[in-house]
Amino acid sequence: MLATIDPMSRIKRLSQRLANQIAAGEVVERPASVVKELLENSLDAGARRVHIDIEGGGSRLIRVRDDGRGIHKEDLALALSRHATSKIGALQDLEAIASLGFRGEALASIASVSRLSMTSRAEDADKGWTVQAQFQEEPQDEMTAQLSPAAHGQGTTVEVRDLFFNTPARRKFLRTENTEFKRIDDVVKRLALSRFDVHITLQHNGRAIHNLLPASSDAERRRRVGLVCGPAFIDNSVAVAREMVREMAGDVEGRDGLRLWGWVSLPTFSRSQADLQYFYVNGRIIRDKVVAHAVKQAYSDVLYHGRHPAYVLYLDLPHKGVDVNVHPTKHEVRFRDSRMVHDFLYGSLHRALQEVTPGDVLAGGADASGAPDIRGGVGFQQETALQPNLSLRGGLLSGQPQASHAGYTGYSGYAPAGGNGAPALSQQAAQQMAQQVQDQTAAYARLMAAEAGGEVPPLGYAIAQLHGIYILAQNKEGLVIVDMHAAHERITYERMKAACQRAELKMQPLLVPLSLAVSQAEADAAEEQAVLREFGLEIERVSAESVIVRQIPSLLRDGDVEQLVRDVLSDIMEYGSSERVKAHQDELLSTMACHGSVRANRQLSIPEMNALLRDMEATENSGQCNHGRPTWVYQSMVQLDRLFMRGQ
Ligand code: ADP
Ligand code: MG
Repeated sequence: MLATIDPMSRIKRLSQRLANQIAAGEVVERPASVVKELLENSLDAGARRVHIDIEGGGSRLIRVRDDGRGIHKEDLALALSRHATSKIGALQDLEAIASLGFRGEALASIASVSRLSMTSRAEDADKGWTVQAQFQEEPQDEMTAQLSPAAHGQGTTVEVRDLFFNTPARRKFLRTENTEFKRIDDVVKRLALSRFDVHITLQHNGRAIHNLLPASSDAERRRRVGLVCGPAFIDNSVAVAREMVREMAGDVEGRDGLRLWGWVSLPTFSRSQADLQYFYVNGRIIRDKVVAHAVKQAYSDVLYHGRHPAYVLYLDLPHKGVDVNVHPTKHEVRFRDSRMVHDFLYGSLHRALQEVTPGDVLAGGADASGAPDIRGGVGFQQETALQPNLSLRGGLLSGQPQASHAGYTGYSGYAPAGGNGAPALSQQAAQQMAQQVQDQTAAYARLMAAEAGGEVPPLGYAIAQLHGIYILAQNKEGLVIVDMHAAHERITYERMKAACQRAELKMQPLLVPLSLAVSQAEADAAEEQAVLREFGLEIERVSAESVIVRQIPSLLRDGDVEQLVRDVLSDIMEYGSSERVKAHQDELLSTMACHGSVRANRQLSIPEMNALLRDMEATENSGQCNHGRPTWVYQSMVQLDRLFMRGQ
């Protein structure tokens, strides 16, 4: 409820605390934001070691202790007031910021919405001091700082208790202790990846969560990345290291360099969410459209549509090449020459991915071989598709990228058998072919009969399978081509949805339970989410970083179980709480269906193909797969005749 505003009220100056609380709205959103600010301060103070102690998901206590430069007694109170910083002194400093903080408002904001105390001993001081922010109600609600001596080693400890105790509206928005802690953990991980040289420890309710030792060698850095991102990422990634020395246009100082290094996932280790993407510019994590676009483009040849690459990347460039003062949380930056940055990123990543062995690339997308694309010329453009009887409603597709058919790069796992030479037919293959011819004749006879009776199903009858990917079928007026996997995926998805709604999704035990190495957070998610069973998954945690998959939905028994479980875990980590997992039920089922559907290159018999066609006709939304691609296209005899210029 808005308080009624007295139109006659006069203008008053805001009290210090109220002004700070308003500013806190921007930077202190939740416990994780406090941890971010405090940890950044420690890093800015040159700490070699930072210890973070959390209680109650951060609402009860956040304590960050470092061994950095410390703060002089005389400056302690000042540090808590707004617009007080040691990091910049003049406007031009903003053009070359090397520190993480510079706005001088974090401590003041945090102090205004919590009970904050700070203890510090400066480098050259012989004892430490504690300062506590106190607010006088009368007359002006001004802040006063209480100083008292305290025992402390060199460095600083900031303690934040009872966050938002005086701003109940903010407090109401906090989620469960676990969710808030996960966000804190994310913040710590992001910063841990930005400073390999600093020893960082994190505790929650007295339990040790991370102990990240300083990493100076390549192997030690890989180890830290593995600890933070999960061992699977580092095992499935390639290292990148590129440098460009360049004359900056119009730059009197001459040559300036751009450097990119880090790790990017192989195309085969893609994720269903963009949740394992870390990008640092001069040590500061950022989100940026230019960067996102360059990465996406570098992967566009090799990544399945709707999948996201995983990466930990560092871009270093001259400080004046980038403006970091764009946003209060400093998550966004502005590049002075964004075109150059884009091209450098794209070029470096594209090359790094190209250097991956041919086997890896093949598995990522077989069509990238440069085969001529006839779709752009004549023939099966989407608008010519006639989709009788089948609705194209895209309700649940909203939010999914609508990939164009022409941009589609093929199935993972699809590799033409026999290389380039024509394979000799084995006896078994010859028999199979003979069987197919028989089947086709039968199918044709059936079609004739049905036609005579006037009742050919809309998608007709299958006549052949093309390269293990497409089903060719003929209906009354022409040719139907079905993308087998896409169609099956949609059918599986709709069935799972229906079964889930009726709470009768059947599980099937795996003959050999699958053991998977995952990150600690993924294992936590598997352990916590009882709701997984409702999706037909039985996953058991067996150690800090491994799980065993025992049962999967029987609808998905032919699928790729490992990828399925990895993606489901990544989804539920993104959603956080069980309620939100439930709210995103459809997306989860769609993720699962994608891995549980017939893969390319599987031979289907004519009856199996016909069964699929009939299922499609009976399935809602079957005109598109779950990613928005069409599942089938159609050419009438009239259109075909036109192609061959018959009767002209
Ligand atoms: P900013 O980081 O933008 O300067 P803050 O409000 O976060 O603003 O901090 C204010 C000042 O307090 C900093 O500029 C710094 O001088 C000092 N300070 C804060 N935390 C620490 C710390 N852990 N060690 C040393 N100095 C600190
Ligand atoms: Mg700061």
